[in-house]
Amino acid sequence: MSSVEIDAYDDADRWQWVCPQGHRSWEATNNHFWCKLCADLASQGEDVEPEFSELVNQSTRETFQRDEITIRDYRQKTA
Ligand SMILES: [Zn+2]
Repeated sequence: MSSVEIDAYDDADRWQWVCPQGHRSWEATNNHFWCKLCADLASQGEDVEPEFSELVNQSTRETFQRDEITIRDYRQKTA
């Protein structure tokens, strides 16, 4: 199984990755990903699933499952 790291706070790194619909507005949760644009589309009646389990690398067109992806968030604020 391959794995990959994404620095979610590095735009150049993050923007290589898109949701299955090709958006960059995804967020990682513990078990899956969620895309704001997909959620907006779904709320407008589009047949889009805003929660999904894999991200697409725009450069290589490879897809990676959530458990293959480590999200680095060094700049995340402490609560
Ligand atoms: Zn999306």
